[in-house]
Amino acid sequence: MKYDYLVVGAGLFGATFAYEAKKKGKTCLVIDKRDHIAGNIYTKEQSGINVHVYGAHIFHTSDKEIWNYINQFAEFNNYINSPVAVYKDELYNLPFNMNTFSKMWNIKTPEEAKKVIQDQIQELHITEPKNLEEQALSLVGRDVYEKLIKGYTEKQWGRSCTDLPAFIIKRLPLRFTYDNNYFNDRFQGIPMGGYTQIIEKMLDGIDVKTSEDFFAMRDRAETTGDLTKTTLSDGTEVEYEKILFTGQIDEYYDSKFGPLEYRSVRFETEELEEENYQGNAVVNYTEREVPYTRIIEHKHFEFGKQPTTIISREYSSEWKPGVEPYYPVNNDKNNALYEKYAELAKAEKNVLFGGRLGMYKYFDMDKDLRAALDLCAEELA
Ligand code: UDP
Repeated sequence: MKYDYLVVGAGLFGATFAYEAKKKGKTCLVIDKRDHIAGNIYTKEQSGINVHVYGAHIFHTSDKEIWNYINQFAEFNNYINSPVAVYKDELYNLPFNMNTFSKMWNIKTPEEAKKVIQDQIQELHITEPKNLEEQALSLVGRDVYEKLIKGYTEKQWGRSCTDLPAFIIKRLPLRFTYDNNYFNDRFQGIPMGGYTQIIEKMLDGIDVKTSEDFFAMRDRAETTGDLTKTTLSDGTEVEYEKILFTGQIDEYYDSKFGPLEYRSVRFETEELEEENYQGNAVVNYTEREVPYTRIIEHKHFEFGKQPTTIISREYSSEWKPGVEPYYPVNNDKNNALYEKYAELAKAEKNVLFGGRLGMYKYFDMDKDLRAALDLCAEELA
């Protein structure tokens, strides 16, 4: 079989590229080492509930074109993410807003909240925040930082807040209104029926091979010296002009400059014989002593009324070979190392890189989709 592109990874980036390439009359073979498509947005139905198998995904964007684009493949519900944070025996609304502040300081007005925060900030004398700790402290003051940010962040990233980039915390809104919407974006929702259908529709009519390992294919190609010609694990011969690789960019280059760091997550998922376990889709456990970062109750993403419920506890860990990489650790050290790989990537004539792992960026889905469409515009013009 002869293709224009071998797309490595059947996640959102790879599937979007394949869908757009097909529209332009190009052929793709999409492979994935997992036994299913959809990458980390994969959802699986269990007892009538769509389980976000590789972590909760909430689609949100301010980019109207991206919102219209994703809506071609699914109908979205009106879910608004409003996580709750548990710190010891205290419970707070997220993101940081008047509900959070009134509970923390027993105050009512924005003016009172601003005054408390301002007084706390003034004692710190931070002029230009250099890291996540300074950024957080200079935005919300010491109380919110210590109760709702420090423990959670150090569990999530396995690093001190002074060793993490400030941008991570800027993802979260801070507002002086009684508004628990976790995102500021204009459009938000969960695809009714889960995410997998989106990727299924994108890949409709395109050759897809799951349980297919790219590196094994590459090893077989290397024996002939022709990297655009190899065999699949079942022996089928395939040829392609170019590769779009959405795996870890450092792995593509055999980690020759050293490995990039990633965070992994282990999910402890169980079905409970009760209708409603925690009353919310997302509950964060912000103190260090609780070993997991959050509990997701999947049914609440789609306002489910099933008789049972499914919950996932998330345990964060450093990535090592053999576990799934989820988050690039975009601190200065890793970003500098990534630039070295990106230089090699830029010089490639027949290999493109994309997605959270291929571009080593802490993308949300909308940004990943935007990056994919930008690549399509350039590559498929
Ligand atoms: N964060 C926090 N406390 C919380 C929730 C988030 O300090 O209760 C910080 C933490 O540093 C985290 C970052 O905000 O890594 C981004 O959180 P988000 O929920 O956006 O992360 P994701 O859903 O991508 O894991």
